[in-house]
Amino acid sequence: MIPFEDEPDYRIGIGTDIHRLVENRKLMLCGIYIPFPLGLLGHSDGDVGLHAVIDALLGAAGMGDIGTLFPDTDDKWKNADSKELLLAVKEKLDEKRWQIVNVDLIIHAEMPKLGPSKGQMKRVIAGLLGIDFTAVNVKAKTNEGMGEVGEGQAIAATATALLRKKKRRGL
Ligand code: MG
Repeated sequence: MIPFEDEPDYRIGIGTDIHRLVENRKLMLCGIYIPFPLGLLGHSDGDVGLHAVIDALLGAAGMGDIGTLFPDTDDKWKNADSKELLLAVKEKLDEKRWQIVNVDLIIHAEMPKLGPSKGQMKRVIAGLLGIDFTAVNVKAKTNEGMGEVGEGQAIAATATALLRKKKRRGL
């Protein structure tokens, strides 16, 4: 089907991530520090929330994945602040004229309780992406005690993102 020339092009993407909870690491989730005795192991800061959002955005734009863009074999990304990675992805989307319509994110964690932090997480993600607070949704779920997440060995995340590209007249 040939779209009408003024019709925007919409693309949806999905991203997931999981990191192991270990001692002697700061727990960073969606760009904020959450006081907790354990943190997420990773080459970067291990922020599963931002990593899932990054993969959802890259997926929607057809730009590959986080591991290709920021390889864990590259010392440049060692202990990297994932907020910087998300900003780099936002820049790539801007270059290709992709606008972010909305982002939806689920953090799967048995502990700690994330309810009180969800508003701040939304604000951080919306701020980094330059979109309205209401265009970002953050949910937190336990895994009912089952599996790695349920047993508190890991925290996981699932995200979706919708992008829109306004067609240029005559293209
Ligand atoms: Mg990751």
